[in-house]
Amino acid sequence: GSAEILDQLREKLSPRGDVVSPRGRALTEEVFGAPLTPVEVVDKICEEVQSTGTSALLHYLKQLDKADLSAEQLRVPEEDLAAAHAAADSALIDSVRRIRENIVRFQSAILHQDVTIEPSPGVRLTQRYVPLRRVGVCVPGGAAAYPSTVLMTAVPAQVAGVKDIAVVAPPTPFGAYNEDMLATCHELGITEVYRMGGAQAVAALAYGTEHVPAVQKIVGPGNLFVALAKKHVYGTVDIDSFAGPSEVIVIADETARADFIAADLLAQAEHSPGSSILITWEESLLDAVEAELTQQLSELSRSDLTLDSLEAFGALILVNDQKHACELTDSFAPEHLHIQTADPQTLMKSINNSGAAFLGHYTPVALGDYAAGPSHVLPTGGTCTWAAGLCSNSFLRSGSVTEFEQGAMAQIADDVERLAEKEGLTAHARSVSIRR
Ligand code: NAD
Repeated sequence: GSAEILDQLREKLSPRGDVVSPRGRALTEEVFGAPLTPVEVVDKICEEVQSTGTSALLHYLKQLDKADLSAEQLRVPEEDLAAAHAAADSALIDSVRRIRENIVRFQSAILHQDVTIEPSPGVRLTQRYVPLRRVGVCVPGGAAAYPSTVLMTAVPAQVAGVKDIAVVAPPTPFGAYNEDMLATCHELGITEVYRMGGAQAVAALAYGTEHVPAVQKIVGPGNLFVALAKKHVYGTVDIDSFAGPSEVIVIADETARADFIAADLLAQAEHSPGSSILITWEESLLDAVEAELTQQLSELSRSDLTLDSLEAFGALILVNDQKHACELTDSFAPEHLHIQTADPQTLMKSINNSGAAFLGHYTPVALGDYAAGPSHVLPTGGTCTWAAGLCSNSFLRSGSVTEFEQGAMAQIADDVERLAEKEGLTAHARSVSIRR
């Protein structure tokens, strides 16, 4: 039954975002001298950075990342960004340039434009959009390096017209010491990069310290500590979303190729943890995909981690028909949805909930992860029923502009006065009647 499958799948679809590895737990004990929960850890770090600024930031960089930095070493010198760019693989820089163009093209096309209507003579009503002045971008650096994250966050911000972009990455070889990441920043014209990550970096960006000017919004992916810290500082600043581990649901019919599907499931599992789920009504696909998974796993560089993730958070599901597949998918609201059927456009119409959808046999999710144009920073864990992925519009603030010429209020003045009087706000009513 659907309810039973749903329960089982929820387990699969939400890799334990709230669980910390044994190494992470040992680090917590070592640093705090007690087995604090991740929320307690993050609250403590954020409160200390808020009250004592740079000294708390440096303390936690030393304790959690083993990086003994001075306040002056927090910011990556611009010469280092230029040097990384000069030394970078020129093919990488060419790719970054081309990808940037793709992102700019899409993100510019979807950017909100001011809208003005004139509902009656002498009345103009405008919704206007203004870019945020200063934003912070989190680039992860614990387990892998992500130049792609710089592209997928900073370029939409630039398209929106954000002037100041501060990139933060942990002081690690995968983070702020990663030459490809630094070269990508330089190529994109980003000059402000900080050697800081985790909850302490999020707090520094939100509250500002003597060495890190505060921002208005913090975006970008990260581990549980980064996600919880963004939640902690929300209200002081805006954030993009509360993102957990990555997920994909592949819906396939008899026209799909088992080797393609296996490659797609493995690509998501490679995030480790990452949820990889196939839903199909074509029974023969199940065995074929399983055989392909085994075959292709042996050829991957992160095969152990990928297998662990697949075993814990992978599933091949046989449903009765296409309708059942769409209902299940909609209930799960996956971050990524990949439809590999004969007519994916029609099937897409029956599914409302997905962070990013990929249609057809020749649209692997990796195209969107790296280069197509929409951002790869997406809502996870079922939150796309109410949250949206990052895009250029995420960096705009909207405001309204209302303008009535003399005499133009006649049409609505009676209504305003009536409601104001009903609410007992006679000064409101008088501010209208005095102009009659
Ligand atoms: P990270 O930079 O997010 O986190 C590393 C930081 O976490 C460290 O610098 C440290 O300060 C902090 N930390 C680690 N253990 C801690 C502990 N016990 N107590 C307090 N703080 C601690 O890097 P990461 O760990 O590699 O995680 C990156 C995550 O982002 C991964 O889950 C990856 O899959 C995800 N990601 C998602 C996207 C996307 O767009 N959806 C893109 C890239 C990466």
